[in-house]
Amino acid sequence: MAANIIDGKAFAATVREKVAGHVTRLKEEHDITPGLAVVLVGEDPASQVYVRSKGKQTVEVGMNSFEHKLDAETSEADLLALIDKLNNDPTVHGILVQLPLPKHLDEDLVINSIAPEKDVDGFHISNVGLLGTGQKSMVPCTPLGCLMMLRDYHGSLSGMDAVVIGRSNIVGKPMAQLLLGDSCTVTIAHSRTKDLPEVVRRADIVVAAVGRPEMVPGDWIKEGATVIDVGINRIERDGKNKLVGDVDFASCAERAGAITPVPGGVGPMTIACLLANTVTACCRANNLAEPEGLTA
Ligand code: NDP
Repeated sequence: MAANIIDGKAFAATVREKVAGHVTRLKEEHDITPGLAVVLVGEDPASQVYVRSKGKQTVEVGMNSFEHKLDAETSEADLLALIDKLNNDPTVHGILVQLPLPKHLDEDLVINSIAPEKDVDGFHISNVGLLGTGQKSMVPCTPLGCLMMLRDYHGSLSGMDAVVIGRSNIVGKPMAQLLLGDSCTVTIAHSRTKDLPEVVRRADIVVAAVGRPEMVPGDWIKEGATVIDVGINRIERDGKNKLVGDVDFASCAERAGAITPVPGGVGPMTIACLLANTVTACCRANNLAEPEGLTA
């Protein structure tokens, strides 16, 4: 069986279109332009690429983009002062501090200093708690993107067996909460899980968020299962640099019913969901109806 390919790139384009439509409505009907502030500390090359891409896409959907680039030696006090300023700026509806931060900065302290209603990454402890208790929150972008693709492909996820491989705060744990919220029976696997192949073979939905290139082979996948590959791994093959996921695409695609490719699957959805979260945050800040289909 050849799996259906879930085209994250195309799906992300439809999400951005929806976001752009809401931005136009907010401008025309309410004279409000949603704004996203991105803070980058230091010169990590991968982070610079992400921040550039976020800024570009923010502007493309009609929102204001505020970029704050601070040098690597910035003190914690100065960073917290900037976040405080952004928290109190009514033109800023979303704040994102690009991770990882330089070692001398306390990531938890910094993230938890962002106003929860502007925390468009969904990492603030209040948002983690709200998601865990099934309340309205800002939802982390990568798992939100995975959920949107799963809902789009399946309609209802109710009663499905889902296995999430990985238990990070950024992907694995919030992904599991979202799937539970959609009434899946959820197993979270990690590096200490016993007999991982057998655990994965039970799953109707497999979300792989491990960070190990092509770790999941096709014979772990139940016939017809849906495979969401979050992994982004840079490897060298045949003398060329290549991006691969956490699942072995070729063998998994032979058994799965549907699968996301890498690149072109989960990756593009992450920034699209950041834009979606910003427009949602803007609507909430102004007591306006939230856009449908852009939140969990
Ligand atoms: P982390 O390193 O924070 O977490 C990895 C998880 O995988 C841990 O829970 C770890 O278990 C588990 N793990 C490691 N080895 C094994 C193993 N052999 N068997 C089972 N579980 C294992 O990574 P992230 O969650 O931040 O990211 C995961 C992947 O997703 C990475 O490739 C990353 O680049 C990618 N990513 C992609 C994004 C996108 O936009 N598409 C966004 C964010 C991440 P334990 O807890 O026991 O150590």
